[in-house]
Formats: sequence, C-alpha cells, structure tokens
Amino acid sequence: MKKISGSTRTMISRSLQDDKRASLKNAAVSYAKKGFAVVPMHTVKNGVCTCHKGKACKNPGKHPANMNGVKGASARVSQVCEWWDANPLANIGIATGSVSGIIALDVDPRNGGDETLRSNIQSLGRLNCSTISRTGGAGSHYIFRMPKFDVRKDSGGKVFGPGLDLMSDGAIIIAPPSVHACGRMYTWKAGASLLAKSPTRLPKRWRVHIRSMQAVAKPLSTSTSDEIVTGSRNDALTRLAGAWQNTGMPPDAMLAALLVENKRRCKPPLDESEVAKIVKSVSKMPVNGRGAASKGDLAERVMRLLLDQDFGGGDHLIYSTDGRFWMFNGRHWDAIQESWLRGRVLSTVQGLPERGGPPPQPSLARSQHC
Ligand SMILES: [Zn+2]
Repeated sequence: MKKISGSTRTMISRSLQDDKRASLKNAAVSYAKKGFAVVPMHTVKNGVCTCHKGKACKNPGKHPANMNGVKGASARVSQVCEWWDANPLANIGIATGSVSGIIALDVDPRNGGDETLRSNIQSLGRLNCSTISRTGGAGSHYIFRMPKFDVRKDSGGKVFGPGLDLMSDGAIIIAPPSVHACGRMYTWKAGASLLAKSPTRLPKRWRVHIRSMQAVAKPLSTSTSDEIVTGSRNDALTRLAGAWQNTGMPPDAMLAALLVENKRRCKPPLDESEVAKIVKSVSKMPVNGRGAASKGDLAERVMRLLLDQDFGGGDHLIYSTDGRFWMFNGRHWDAIQESWLRGRVLSTVQGLPERGGPPPQPSLARSQHC
C-alpha cells in the first residue's frame, strides 16, 4: 500500500478541521432556526478545556464561552453566526426551559444515572422519547416539550434520584456535534435528532411526578419540624390537600405529594389507603380562592393583593370543609375568624392606589385567630 506523505496528512487534517468548523456553525444556526436558544460553549482540545483554567478546569468543554452564559442564550441567527465566526470550534449549548420550549433528562452513568433511569421507568412507565442525544461520555439527554407548568431545574437528584438531572430554566445541554472531554463527539441517536423531529410530551406520570416532587418542596421548607400526631393526622392532611386543590393541583399529583407529607410528618404515617381517601374527597370539593376568580375585576384584584400580601400567594389560606377559613402561620394551620378576614379585605380595598389610600399593611397579630 502506498504510504501517505507528511504533506498529504497535513492536508487531510486541515480539511477535517474545516469540516468540523463548518458543521458546528451550521448545526448551531439550524438549532437557532428551529427556535432553540443557543449558547457558545468552551470546547476541548487534546483533552484540555479552551478556557483560561486549561487543565485545571473542572467542567471541560461544558461551560459557556460568552459573557453572560445562559442568560445570553439566543435563537437569533445573526447573533449565532457572529459567535461561531469568532470561535468556529465552540461547542454548542442549548438553553433548556421556556426560552427554548424544552426540558431534558440528563442521564449521567458515572453517578448511577442508568440505574436511576431504570428504576424510574419501572415506577413511572416508559419514556417514549423521540429526541435523544448521546454525550461522548456514555451519558444521554432525553429531550421533551416544555410542560404547561413551571419546572425547576434539578441537578441534586431531588426529583428522580442520583445521576438523573432535570434540565429546565437556567440550564444548558450540550448538543451534537460538540466535542466531549474524552474526545468523542456528541451525536443524535439514529432517527432522533432535534433537527429532524419535534420533541414529544413527557408521559403523564412523569409530569405528575415532577409536579408533585416540586410542589412538596415548598411547604416542606417551612414545616420540616412540623410533626402531625395521632388524632390530628386526618384533619391536617385534609387541610393540606384542600390548599393544594385551590392551586389547581390535579388529584394524582396531590396524592403523590400527600403521600410524601404523610411519610415525613405524620407520626406514625396514615395507611396509604387513608391518604387516597382524603385526596378523593378533597378533589370533589369546589376550588376556592384563585381558581374561582373572575376576569380581572375589582374583586379579583383585591383578592390577588390580599393573598399575595398576607397568605403566601394563596398557599397559606384555605376554606375548609368545616366551613371555616384556615391560615398557615409559618408553623401550623390556624382557624381564623371571618370578621377578621373581612377587615383585611376592607383595608386592602382602602389601600388601592385609585382610592388614595396607603398600601395595606402586612397581616395583623395572630391573636385575632380563634
Ligand atoms: Zn473550562
């Protein structure tokens, strides 16, 4: 076989390099044209990150190379061309979340992501994902359409477990044909490119799981030490479910969230069948508060102001099946007198700017409660 001369080898290597530059820019532009917000990322040369930290970089080829990172993500073709003309070998980041209309599950096998994915599939069902990329380092990104509710990013395994991150607002996934730290390229799974297919919806049980895991994160932060003891467990869980019902939470999400609260706070926890009964009865109740609001009229505005100001946006006030209003005081739920609530409504109305009043003051003393 004829030996390849040194100059031929250089020529081949240059032409491969040119191909790579062209394909990165073309891909970045194609993503932008599809409406995905793109970010230029540092890349890896001979195993070393192109950022100023070089060998010391802890996240080689995976962090933004622009000034303001994910905040500067853009789907404007002229901006994307400018970035890749200046830095033709930049890896391609796609900002996840509402800016691109996608979320992604990032499976990292080095941290147990494969096992976590398997166990989640066992409990939540198959993923049926149409757009999947393989990272050069044996990981995968499963990309889905953004759900219709807020999804917070999670890289701590709080939603799915170790090694399975949830990428949403404020997060970036690296897209093919970027180069991984190990030297291999990110690729699309055959027939599953984001450029050829639209992402599908995350299956319902997965969506419900995210919603319930992220819904319980809030109340728990103010009530971790709140034990619910025998005798008050049923009432306390009913009130909690009632509050969630008013936020529009669907029954299956409510059940998942209430089971978590039951396990964490009830000493000892109620039977799961009891919790299911609570959810069944609460979800038949009419929605109070925000859910029943009319179209931006005075009553709506007053209620909105009052809920935001005194009742944690509505999460801290419920109208219970016992015909009383209950409010969460930061530690536990208290029944409140309707006359006191009427007083708060009146002072909120008087505080409206068009009524010339001062802005309403925060909630009065807790001694007003019965
Ligand atoms: Zn770096």
